[in-house]
Amino acid sequence: MKNHELTFLKDKIEQLKKDGVYRELPVNYGPCDNVIELNHKKVINLSSNNYLGLANHPRVKQAAIDAVNKYGAGAGAVRTIVGNQDIIGELEDVLAEFKKEDAVMCFQSGLNCNIGTIQAIVERGDLIISDELNHASIIDGVRLSRADKAVFRHSDMEHLEEILKEKRENYNQVLIITDGVFSMDGDLAKLPRIVELAEQYNALTYVDDAHGSGVLGTSGRGTVDHFHLHGRVDFIIGTLSKAIGVVGGYVASKKETKIWLSHRARPLLFSTALPPAATAAAIESVKMLMESEEYSNKLWDNARYFKSKLGKLGFDTGHSETPITPVIIGSEAKTMEFSKALLDNGVYVSGIVFPTVPKGTGRLRCMISASHTKEDLDYAVSQFEIVGKQLNII
Ligand SMILES: *Cc1c(COP(=O)(O)O)cnc(C)c1O
Repeated sequence: MKNHELTFLKDKIEQLKKDGVYRELPVNYGPCDNVIELNHKKVINLSSNNYLGLANHPRVKQAAIDAVNKYGAGAGAVRTIVGNQDIIGELEDVLAEFKKEDAVMCFQSGLNCNIGTIQAIVERGDLIISDELNHASIIDGVRLSRADKAVFRHSDMEHLEEILKEKRENYNQVLIITDGVFSMDGDLAKLPRIVELAEQYNALTYVDDAHGSGVLGTSGRGTVDHFHLHGRVDFIIGTLSKAIGVVGGYVASKKETKIWLSHRARPLLFSTALPPAATAAAIESVKMLMESEEYSNKLWDNARYFKSKLGKLGFDTGHSETPITPVIIGSEAKTMEFSKALLDNGVYVSGIVFPTVPKGTGRLRCMISASHTKEDLDYAVSQFEIVGKQLNII
């Protein structure tokens, strides 16, 4: 039957190929670590969000194994029915202590958390004001909500204030949403000013700290801690999938948020709870962060070392304030060529080009981790130098 051949998809895929954006998913044949076996080739991994190297840490893995032995492989249902295993509550208590907030509600991922939380906390008659560079999962959450939307230019506080001035009085709740750390450039939200404006105009604040948790602030408590804003941000989102090294997402807030979400957040009501292995592994990771700053110190040492070496070679590493290290190449084609040459030389850095970033600002986004050794970083820098000279970038 002709209509089972999905020719409409075949045509779209042909178009991807014509546009030069077709790709196959790379395969990692082992754990996520400093060195990985990508497509059967050993390469230095400068592309993961495993900031602290916890994804393959023996303590974290053991916690997962123990939990499987005690609780099984799957939670068996959504949390509102019978999937709410006691360790999920334990994880939420540990996270609330970590984030210094009243209560935490966990979700199956950061994306689920944004989609479920935004949709549940605002409604028709409310306004969401969102930074133009916010993460896709925020944009999806905003789309699913019935609130009106306004977008402010990236980190432009005057534009944000203009919108508040013009629109505040027409709405019940106004929710300002921003990433804590913007993942393409590694810059921080201007959180102190956002909070000030929110207080002045009686608006709520929502910070997605996926790239800040485990990285910034005391023991990696995140951007809210970094800026000493505890108690002044209403909804703080974190992920368990990046620095924590596992999978999952959460919102830290007042206990009323948690109660309301348990009645209204659709990923909690309609999608099965976190599996026990992930829950227990995340508990262990967060405990490790609270016990010592060893991993976050190593992360920052590595990031400073790597950035300064690339800078000395003459590369443009942008204005990152975090271990995210973009190397701005400019042209889309050259960026992809650079990335491919590095991979041939044993260094995996993904090239990021339009439409993920503006045209002409193609970059190699280097993700530094505490798991990297100085030798890994030296080798990566040496390959950047070779390819940079070959392509006339430096
Ligand atoms: C990665 C990311 C997410 C999604 O987190 P997952 O746990 O991977 O679903 C959400 N928000 C931001 C800002 C992110 O960077």
